[in-house]
Amino acid sequence: MDIEREILETDILIVGAGPAGLATAYKIAKLVEAQSLEMPEILLIDKAAYAGAHSLSGAVMNPRGIAELIPDFKELGAPLEAEVTADSMHYLFKNSSLKFPFMPPSLHNHGNYVISLNKFTTWLAEQVEALGIDVYAGLAGYELIIADGKVTGIQTVDMGLDKEGEKRSNFEPGSIIQAKVTILCEGVHGSLTRHAFEKITELLENSIPQTYLTGVKEVWEVPEGRINAGDVIHTIGYPQPLNEYGGGWIYGMGENKVSVGFAVGLNSPNPMNDPHMKFQQYKMHPVVKKILEGGSMLHYGAKTMPDNGYYSMPKLYHDGLMLCGDSAGFLNPAKLKGVHLAIKSGIMAAETAVEALQADDFSQKTLAGYKTKFDNSWAKTEMYQSRNFHAGFKSGLIPGMIHASIQMLTGGGGLFDRKESKRDHEYMLTKDEYMQEFGVEPSKASLKFDNEYLFDKLTNVYKSGTMHEEEQPSHLQITDFDICNTKCKEEYGNPCQHFCPAQVYEMVEDGADTKLQLTPSNCVHCKTCDIADPYQVIRWVTPQGGEGPNYTNC
Ligand code: SF4
Repeated sequence: MDIEREILETDILIVGAGPAGLATAYKIAKLVEAQSLEMPEILLIDKAAYAGAHSLSGAVMNPRGIAELIPDFKELGAPLEAEVTADSMHYLFKNSSLKFPFMPPSLHNHGNYVISLNKFTTWLAEQVEALGIDVYAGLAGYELIIADGKVTGIQTVDMGLDKEGEKRSNFEPGSIIQAKVTILCEGVHGSLTRHAFEKITELLENSIPQTYLTGVKEVWEVPEGRINAGDVIHTIGYPQPLNEYGGGWIYGMGENKVSVGFAVGLNSPNPMNDPHMKFQQYKMHPVVKKILEGGSMLHYGAKTMPDNGYYSMPKLYHDGLMLCGDSAGFLNPAKLKGVHLAIKSGIMAAETAVEALQADDFSQKTLAGYKTKFDNSWAKTEMYQSRNFHAGFKSGLIPGMIHASIQMLTGGGGLFDRKESKRDHEYMLTKDEYMQEFGVEPSKASLKFDNEYLFDKLTNVYKSGTMHEEEQPSHLQITDFDICNTKCKEEYGNPCQHFCPAQVYEMVEDGADTKLQLTPSNCVHCKTCDIADPYQVIRWVTPQGGEGPNYTNC
């Protein structure tokens, strides 16, 4: 389609108003003010309806990042649900549990805060706007623009196309945003970040493949006295089999609210791996049930997290480009925490951007300063110390726990350094391979959803506030539907119908046969399908801006 597009120019383009993007904008404004510089033009955009609407995490936040960015964050009213008051770790058997007599140091949470990440992000956006930088919510990036090997900006998503991609009467072409530097802070597995990795191959040249967990959570209101504000409970074991990675959490948020969730490794050999089902199973365990039973579920969400750590971080910069937060793998896998690291990455990117403005040079020569700052920062120390944590679990839970203990004694290296990993989808076995390996057919739990305590995917999606206009091209692009309806059905049994936590993918009757049917309007933007599809024929692209989940208190 030949389309005339508006061209907007800015000095700094920040894509993503999560903790990393907002920290970048905030710090730039503060540096400019402190050094009496001329305020650059900053365009901060986000695909969600408002800043924070797509932000989802457990979450227990280490305050180190926010304290460095905004030292008086508490006085300014940062929404902290509760300071952590108690910490415990439990191994779950199917019907019983064993409380660890001590907490592994990597999981100590004293001094940390239970937060709702989406509330915290909305508050951080208000602090940024108070410094004169607007957040343009509802504006989604479609593709990265690269000219002569240099990133020059992005194109935003076209609005008002029908399902076939034809213009409707309300058609509005996406704009070209030209920027001296584009800072990608899109969160996990962002679509522009993916473009960057595909088009600028040196970004991943020295990294091993990223690995991911899908976390599924609900927020509950429970009867008085079930859990104290600031009570932090982590679990390993049930319902994950010993050979698969993952674990659960229960956090007391105060006012009888509880964040409960379960994270499942996407490197599972089981083609019926279903993070949503695992989470519902988790809620049946007595440790969880005694807290939730009799309460009511308020909110639902699901999201992937990058958990391979330091060795999977990409090169952080290119000509005209910097990568921050989850987009660059800033997450400590031993603690499963990334908010403080995302904020720190934003601080360092902001300092580099201001230096680039002063030098009027946005080439790699100046932007390499971002990497130098990272190398000299507490963020690097923390990431490096946990560099082999996830890789230690490659042979299962027990060897992983032993290796994690050895890592504590060896400063993070453990028994090996830098274990090469495959991409998550390469670990999935076909039904036949699974049978050969484990002697049983792949399966998943079968639960009766009463939609009062155990929820089916559609009821959960409703509680995520997800909205998409139906009349638009599918943002789940399947490059080869034939594979879905033939080869994948025979070999893997269509894993997408299991791993998607929002029932976007369903096999429906088609005469005497079945075929894949998509309902993209259910999508909670978790990115699991793009990562876990064994044939890599699913590509998640941004839908129209302002759509997707509308998380509240998540
Ligand atoms: Fe997640 Fe993909 Fe399902 Fe959307 S369609 S909810 S991105 S798995």
